[in-house]
Amino acid sequence: MSGKRDVQDGKGLRTMEQLVGHAPVTKNGSILHLFSPEEGDIDILENGRTIDDFIDLKIKELSSEENEEPFLVANLDSMFKRHFRWLTNLPRVKPFYAVKCNNTPAVVQMLRALDTGFDCASKGEIELALSLGVSPDKIIYAHTTKPLSHIKYACAHGVNMMTFDSEDELLKISLCHPKAKLVLRIAVDDSKSLLRLNLKFGAKLENVGKLLERAHELDLNVMGVSFHVGSGCTECASFKQAIEDARQVFDIAKLMGFQMSLLDIGGGFSGREDFQVKFEEFSEVINGALDKYFPPDSGVKIMAEPGRYYVESAFTLAANVIARRVITDDITELCNGNEDCPDKMMMYYLNDGVYGSLSCLINDAAHTAVEPYLHRAVDSSEQRYPSVIWGPTCDCLDKVTDSHWFPELHVGDWLLIDNMGAYSVSLTTDFNGFERAHIYSVVSNDILHALNLSHTFEIIQD
Ligand SMILES: *Cc1c(COP(=O)(O)O)cnc(C)c1O
Repeated sequence: MSGKRDVQDGKGLRTMEQLVGHAPVTKNGSILHLFSPEEGDIDILENGRTIDDFIDLKIKELSSEENEEPFLVANLDSMFKRHFRWLTNLPRVKPFYAVKCNNTPAVVQMLRALDTGFDCASKGEIELALSLGVSPDKIIYAHTTKPLSHIKYACAHGVNMMTFDSEDELLKISLCHPKAKLVLRIAVDDSKSLLRLNLKFGAKLENVGKLLERAHELDLNVMGVSFHVGSGCTECASFKQAIEDARQVFDIAKLMGFQMSLLDIGGGFSGREDFQVKFEEFSEVINGALDKYFPPDSGVKIMAEPGRYYVESAFTLAANVIARRVITDDITELCNGNEDCPDKMMMYYLNDGVYGSLSCLINDAAHTAVEPYLHRAVDSSEQRYPSVIWGPTCDCLDKVTDSHWFPELHVGDWLLIDNMGAYSVSLTTDFNGFERAHIYSVVSNDILHALNLSHTFEIIQD
């Protein structure tokens, strides 16, 4: 990441070094424990300590209490860096974080401190954002099929921006929130995405004229266009085509007397460092298309609704091996005549699985495999065994990995899994009575002070 480019922090332009470079020197100590008013604690890394140090410490602490509960660590610094990367690469595009991707209060609070907007899809998400101090004009109610009562709630709480893609929705909105600022969601080509959304949402281009006519009759204010290229988009060209489609809609609207002023390019950006297409490549194509179809002097404001972009790589899961089974039958068959065939294969049972933090494995088409690794140091000479890792519930579907080669694990060993921030914690259940993993949100002292987070989190120190 380039630290040279300027970033807007609300007080003028400063570089990232300047942003984080003014942290006051703090007293010696390791990790301060802080509390946010809503839920969960915020822990602060002092004196150059890292997330890995935090995980080590937490595992030590839990082990000494004979507590094996799984936990997640949310690295708020990582979100700050992702945000900086966004501002650097897409300077014209204002991000509205999609709350459904990860609704952890500390995540919302961190993004509020970074001054992003929020994409909420229900009364509950709007309530959450408002309760954490998000101002209603920073919220887009980005769901095209809304319950009447939720539209009324949005209206009563000053949330005015909302999307639609059908005539019926226009009627509902004209009843419950006639002054709403409407954004027409169009269907775009999402065939290059790992999780497609346009079968369920979005008006087809050929229906746009009719919809706008209806909005006109109902005296509604349609001020923009939105789309979503699908989650985990793998092709830059999808954005380019969608932006071109949106231009067509702007032109149709203009002919009909609407002066549209907002383009919302949705989500779809991966949050993983190892994703097949770099964010910078997407940005280049998006910027090119924006400059062509919506140049700065067009006066059109651009926004987006990134979800996984901000949080996917910020979360690491730590889960404990609570049981194991050694399998010795049929092992030679499994090895296919391989001379170095081990004499057994292993089955391990973790205390978190697909009904818990690893729900992405069955719910998120863009995250169907994880790579657990051992928390303890592993010697390269240790014998590896083919191992299946299961989640804790009684369901066979609850499988974490299939036939990974692992050193021998023991009950009480900890496994770590990275990139656990997207469509994970917001989809967990307590099926079979297994509790949800606790989330520890961690921030470095530098970022804490640079962003004045003590105000955001109403910190109380112990
Ligand atoms: C889910 C969703 C998003 C976020 O998508 P990501 O792929 O996580 O960036 C944004 N907008 C809408 C309308 C969504 O449904």
